[in-house]
Amino acid sequence: MDVPSVSCSGCGICVVVCPRDALKMSFSAQGHLRPALNKNLCVDCGLCVRVCPFVDVHDEGEVVVSGFTTGLIGKYVKVGLAWSTDERVRFKSASGGAATSILKYLLEERIVDAVLAPRIWVKRGIVFGRYEVVYDPKEVVNYAGSIYAPVDITKALKEALKERLHIALVGLPCQIRGLRRSFQYLPHLKDNIKLVLGLYCNNTPSSKATEYAVKTLLKVKPEKVSYLSFRGHGWPGYAIIATDDYRTLKVSSPVFWDSGLGQYFYGKSCLICSDHTAELADISLADPWTYQRGISAGKTLVVIRTKLGLEILMRAVESGYLEFEEIPELYAVQYTTLLKKAVKVITKRGSKYPYVIPPSITTVLHEIDYLVGSSLARDERLWPLLRFYAKTRHYVFKPLVTIDYFLKLGFNRILAKVSKAWIVG
Ligand SMILES: Cc1cc2nc3c(=O)[nH]c(=O)nc-3n(C[C@H](O)[C@H](O)[C@H](O)COP(=O)(O)OP(=O)(O)OC[C@H]3O[C@@H](n4cnc5c(N)ncnc54)[C@H](O)[C@@H]3O)c2cc1C
Ligand code: SF4
Ligand code: SF4
Ligand code: SF4
Repeated sequence: MDVPSVSCSGCGICVVVCPRDALKMSFSAQGHLRPALNKNLCVDCGLCVRVCPFVDVHDEGEVVVSGFTTGLIGKYVKVGLAWSTDERVRFKSASGGAATSILKYLLEERIVDAVLAPRIWVKRGIVFGRYEVVYDPKEVVNYAGSIYAPVDITKALKEALKERLHIALVGLPCQIRGLRRSFQYLPHLKDNIKLVLGLYCNNTPSSKATEYAVKTLLKVKPEKVSYLSFRGHGWPGYAIIATDDYRTLKVSSPVFWDSGLGQYFYGKSCLICSDHTAELADISLADPWTYQRGISAGKTLVVIRTKLGLEILMRAVESGYLEFEEIPELYAVQYTTLLKKAVKVITKRGSKYPYVIPPSITTVLHEIDYLVGSSLARDERLWPLLRFYAKTRHYVFKPLVTIDYFLKLGFNRILAKVSKAWIVG
């Protein structure tokens, strides 16, 4: 059985569960992390395909590309804003430092033996993330911030499972889907993974995306980059880039993301993925884009989904790690949530996905935009043209997208009154 390559996001879960170590993550030519198979070691047990978040294996052994769930934001018990009481954490983190504070609380209270979180690595101009097993609560702050590049979970997760550690981890929606699927086949994983924090996820840009942004936006040669962080320094924060000739460059994070880095360098899996909000996490975490505007001390939008998630968050609040304020659930719905739940015109033509939002002008425009931009992104010689395209498309897209968002949100507000099913999966 093979996973259709169009639908691999590089979540790494197949590599973690393979009983023969026949899979290894490696970079593709386009800068995505993808599993590579050593056929000599493979015993064709099929486990890797069964845990893959992107495919369903039918009884007859047929492998089909899977859509995720219905509903807008999945199950939840509370939606709110949370922020760290430690100003250093809040300043360094992506939003309000809720993720970092919860992980720190779990370690300090010895609720888990270790936490798994990635941090940024820069090697010969390639920027990527690598998970590590973190035991020391004081270290957790060093992992704060968002990594908009491929991230490898495999080595750290394998190590933690081998050591039978009780862990908490933070992951992207597709990783969490893969993990939850693996619990079905390997129940001991469920015993070891105590709490799952999920990040909202628009997409994961390839490593080429950072190269592109550094080159065309900052006019720096990627191989000169010695350090890079995508978020932090307040909210929504700055990308910080240090070079080996001791220069430090600072650019607003939304400008860095909107340069084309966040729009044209992701794989098709992110285009067909409809889980924006980490629906299978215990607690999902996001930027409060729909609630907070302007530059400020950050807060994290949190969607608490399970009893355990609620208990842990409330205990962390009582113990003084976090502040929490409940807000209406509609603020958890971002434009991307709607976009990802819309019927995908190009990639899913002819398929039977039960998405909840009908296609609209902006859905179609979004896919055309991706097709044009990603074609330019594939060839480095065309990057200056891509930069020009990324700058000018805003004049057409921003007004349309904004109008569409409010129309759809209004539409959903009315529907929510009639039936909660449109918000809850
Ligand atoms: C690729 C990506 C896309 C995102 N898309 C959206 C979006 O569309 N809308 C939205 O509102 N929010 C999005 N987020 C989430 C947002 O950027 C923040 O991560 C979230 O608000 C949590 O903030 P915090 O201050 O509580 O986290 P922090 O306290 O800063 O902690 C973040 C934790 O996440 C871990 N982490 C960072 N990057 C990754 C990664 N790539 N994979 C796994 N773990 C990681 C860090 O190691 C750290 O432990 C995205 C994040 C990522 C990484
Ligand atoms: S089929 Fe089994 S042995 Fe082969 S790569 Fe997949 S999990 Fe590993
Ligand atoms: S999406 Fe994840 S589980 Fe599926 S093939 Fe890719 S890395 Fe493996
Ligand atoms: S958009 Fe979906 S598939 Fe892509 S990285 Fe995020 S969760 Fe994974």
